[in-house]
Amino acid sequence: MPMLAILGLSSPVEQDWDTIRAIQLSGVERHSLIRTVINLVLGLMVCQTLSNVIETWIIALWFGALIAAVIYPANLAQKIGHNVKGDAVRREITKLAGSMAALAAVWSIPLLLVPASHPDVLATVWMVLAALVIALVVLLHAAPMGTLAFNVIAMGASIFAFSKTGELTTIGAVASFSILSFMATIESARAWLLLKMNEVGLAEKNEVVSMLLREFEEGGADWLWQIDSARRIVHASPRFSYAVGMDAKAMEGQPLVQIISGQAWESGDFPPSLHRLAEKLKRRESFSNLMVRVSVNDETRWWELSASPRFDGNNTFVGFRGVGSDVTEKRKSDEKISHMARFDNLTGLPNRLQLTEGLSNALADAAKWRGRCGFMMIDLDRFKSVNDTLGHLVGDRLLAMVSQRLRTLMSKNELCGRLGGDEFAVIVHDASDAARFNMLAKEIIDTLSRPYEVGENTLFIGASVGTALGPSDGDTVETLMRSADLALYRSKDDGGGRHNCYEPRLHSTAEERRVMEMALRKALERDEFSLAFQPVVGVDSEAIMGFEALLRWNSQDFGPVSPAKFIPLAEEARLVVPIGNWVLHRACREATMWPSNIKVAVNVSAEQLYEADFVETVVEALSETGLEPARLELEVTESVFLREGSDVCETLDRILSLGVGLALDDFGTGYSALGYLSKTRFTTIKVDRSFVQGAAKGLPESIAIIRAVVAMADSLGMSTTAEGAETDHEVAIIRGLGCKKIQGYFYGRPMAGNDVLELFGSFGQAQIA
Ligand code: C2E
Ligand code: MG
Ligand code: MG
Repeated sequence: MPMLAILGLSSPVEQDWDTIRAIQLSGVERHSLIRTVINLVLGLMVCQTLSNVIETWIIALWFGALIAAVIYPANLAQKIGHNVKGDAVRREITKLAGSMAALAAVWSIPLLLVPASHPDVLATVWMVLAALVIALVVLLHAAPMGTLAFNVIAMGASIFAFSKTGELTTIGAVASFSILSFMATIESARAWLLLKMNEVGLAEKNEVVSMLLREFEEGGADWLWQIDSARRIVHASPRFSYAVGMDAKAMEGQPLVQIISGQAWESGDFPPSLHRLAEKLKRRESFSNLMVRVSVNDETRWWELSASPRFDGNNTFVGFRGVGSDVTEKRKSDEKISHMARFDNLTGLPNRLQLTEGLSNALADAAKWRGRCGFMMIDLDRFKSVNDTLGHLVGDRLLAMVSQRLRTLMSKNELCGRLGGDEFAVIVHDASDAARFNMLAKEIIDTLSRPYEVGENTLFIGASVGTALGPSDGDTVETLMRSADLALYRSKDDGGGRHNCYEPRLHSTAEERRVMEMALRKALERDEFSLAFQPVVGVDSEAIMGFEALLRWNSQDFGPVSPAKFIPLAEEARLVVPIGNWVLHRACREATMWPSNIKVAVNVSAEQLYEADFVETVVEALSETGLEPARLELEVTESVFLREGSDVCETLDRILSLGVGLALDDFGTGYSALGYLSKTRFTTIKVDRSFVQGAAKGLPESIAIIRAVVAMADSLGMSTTAEGAETDHEVAIIRGLGCKKIQGYFYGRPMAGNDVLELFGSFGQAQIA
């Protein structure tokens, strides 16, 4: 800080001089009383000293002047210092300096009055003046200009007085004293000013900090907390005491950890997060956003705490100060979100993500301990039909019940979850006990296949299981899942309700399917399809009434493939629509070459019916080939009714209104609800071969079902066809039960189109025997 600035003679721009001057001027007032008293007391002493050498009235006069000179600056000091700014400051400083100069002048008078013959008196007076200079250095550091003015005049007068005595040493000493006290004045003023400025700065800082803290305390959900070096709570804020659920006064001095650990304080069984907190406090480490499980008001809550250790000026640790907030609600919703990400919403079972993780861990453990883990894939049989016929709500409730049952079968070694849809999975951590592993698969099938009561419905579904063992059947999550999936596929293929373990052969089967699907895609282009026709014969007349067109595929790569194998594949690969169109056209064209009373039946997959333009396709086939609609019959199975929300009935009605016949194929095999019969006016019901065989063996249910179907069909004006009669015994039974038509090897196997033509050509009429 420059000297002129301290003296008040300049104000460099980089400082807030208004504030500094105000500090200075307000300091002037301080010690003004002592200054006055010292002046007067010393004045009296000087009067005493002078009384021997100077006349009393002069002394009295001088003392009077001194009193006036002392009181004036004292008065001035009382008044200035408050709200002085800008130019006024300099004026005040000058005024004060002037008053001090005047005081010095009055003080100098005795020096000039004392004759040179009394050097001892002169020395005494000078000493008094020197004492006054020192007193001003100490007591008037706020206004160094005044001290300097006093110094210059008083010491100047002293030197002048001593010069009369001719003592150079004394003059030198006085001059040195003057210079040194001059420097002391500047230094003490500077030190005092710096001290004051620091004080003001600090106070301001404190003000700002406490304002911020107040705002923080009032505004947020957070609180401040503070503990001393013994980790006891100090200055508990209202919000902190609210969070703890205790009176702020009662909290004061209590160990923080004790207050927030509840029962654990006595039992010593601290939650790990609390342990972490205690450790941090003990090690005097700062921490931020530490999640701590606390127990306040007999309730478990989560706090997020941040704090840092505090040290005093001597670097002694005095405790911690920090902030805290209650994040219980937020944590709950976070937990919920992470729960949702890892658990299936509908069933509450672990979801695919968690199963994948679990399997990965199981595989890692198996590799580590040279053990075996197992993965089971479970698929519900006939679930789709429940979902489609009774709706998703029932379907969802059923899935929830399935999961409950599945859960009851699990031990600590197993984890079950839902992969999606009606697919579930079980991870068996240690599957070294093969017998137990297979038992579990069997138990799962048995348990899940028991009937379910959902509302008023009793539902029968089954379960198929495919299992694979890691690492032998796959050493990664992906390969092991794929292996189990292949085994499951096999179980499904076997008709469901089965358990299959993975075998390497399955891989080749799956691979074969993939290759076959590719071949199927090319089959139409390569012209590998053909139609075979199987005669349908009147029961009584034994005359051919029509033929069922049956698709044949003679693949370049696989040779002849059974439709039972490639039709489902075509349905899955969505190839059945173009293939079905081809069949429809080809069958209609063939039929036009037959006698006009001979019908042709064409099988139609559900997938075809769901196509929006299916009816148009039929119309097109008829018009292109010129076949009379009445000679065409489309065969559908009950499965067409299973898709919810599709307007199948409307499609079927439109087909009927074209004059085309409709047959319900394979009746009795699938969902077997006589109710379907009332949905559409079928022309024909085809009773499945299994009933024909059953009836021939004398099974009462088979006989009863055929009877019921025949009776119902008769009353609704429908015809009945018995499928797959191979022996004359079967034919006789069917005849006895009242079926109208028979289709089976007994009368003829599916034959090539040319053979059909030849049949008519050689016989000339529809009669075979
Ligand atoms: P489906 O419609 O029930 O056809 C009757 C099946 O029973 C034919 O098998 C036929 O050869 C067989 N069959 C007839 N009489 C007897 C018999 O006395 N004994 C035995 N054991 N079997 C007999 P195929 O030709 O293998 O057809 C199987 C299934 O493939 C058909 O069952 C039908 O659902 C489907 N299919 C065939 N062609 C087509 C088609 O063009 N389109 C569609 N969507 N499906 C077709
Ligand atoms: Mg058929
Ligand atoms: Mg059939």
